[in-house]
Amino acid sequence: MENKVDYHFHSYYSDGTMKPTELVKKYKEEKYDIIALTDHDGIDGIAEAMIAGEALEIQVVAGIELSTDFFAPGYSEAIDAHILGYQFDVENEKLIEKCKEIMAERRVRNEKLLKVIKELGYELQYEDLIERKGQKYIGKPNFARALVRKGYIDHYSEAFEPGKLLESPEAKAVKKVKMTIEEAMELIKQAGGIPVLAHPMEWADQPMFKGISKEEFFERLDVLIRHLKKSGLKGVECYHPSAADEDSMELFKIAQKYHLHVTRGSDFHGDLTK
Ligand SMILES: [Zn+2]
Ligand SMILES: [Zn+2]
Repeated sequence: MENKVDYHFHSYYSDGTMKPTELVKKYKEEKYDIIALTDHDGIDGIAEAMIAGEALEIQVVAGIELSTDFFAPGYSEAIDAHILGYQFDVENEKLIEKCKEIMAERRVRNEKLLKVIKELGYELQYEDLIERKGQKYIGKPNFARALVRKGYIDHYSEAFEPGKLLESPEAKAVKKVKMTIEEAMELIKQAGGIPVLAHPMEWADQPMFKGISKEEFFERLDVLIRHLKKSGLKGVECYHPSAADEDSMELFKIAQKYHLHVTRGSDFHGDLTK
């Protein structure tokens, strides 16, 4: 029988809401066989997930999700691409160092975002964003929930309405410093891990893929994935909420064609609104 797997979900060590132990318990109850915690830009939750996995007898694989810029040949703008990494050495120094660096950049970015929100008329302090003791990762969901707690907005979703607050041009101008997709794949590889392209269907919403047919989208994806394989890509997340069944079939065909691993991920974050 095929294994029940989820190779992509987030804990409160990045922008998820649940503790790694709670997540492992949830997957055990749902009768999963193999799971991988893939927090954004960090590996701090893995040890806890693995200990829970051993206790509950469910296989937990080390994972991470990295945000990257993909400067693809023939495209004038970078494609916003996410790379998942698996089965790397969690004690790899370069990887740990890079995660620390990204965390420091995030702090700078969050301070800028606080300024933007203030200029829009909402007074928030850095402390207002912190929701648990020892929290290191702060992202836009923390801003949205802080705005609700402060009574500035009624619902979490209001913070993400087009053109407003966290989606305002000013907030969007606060850019992430990202590594290139090649750097991300190399970082995972040098730590003994396997780089996998996350949710390629999400590319369809990016400017460079707007207004083209599904057929052309998959033709372009084929070329891009072939290109990435040359720089070390080892797999494609073919099954993800962003992919309809027929999309997954197309992704599967491309992965097969280039002898790449096929993975499945839910991208579960818990309930972000609470
Ligand atoms: Zn992602
Ligand atoms: Zn994700």
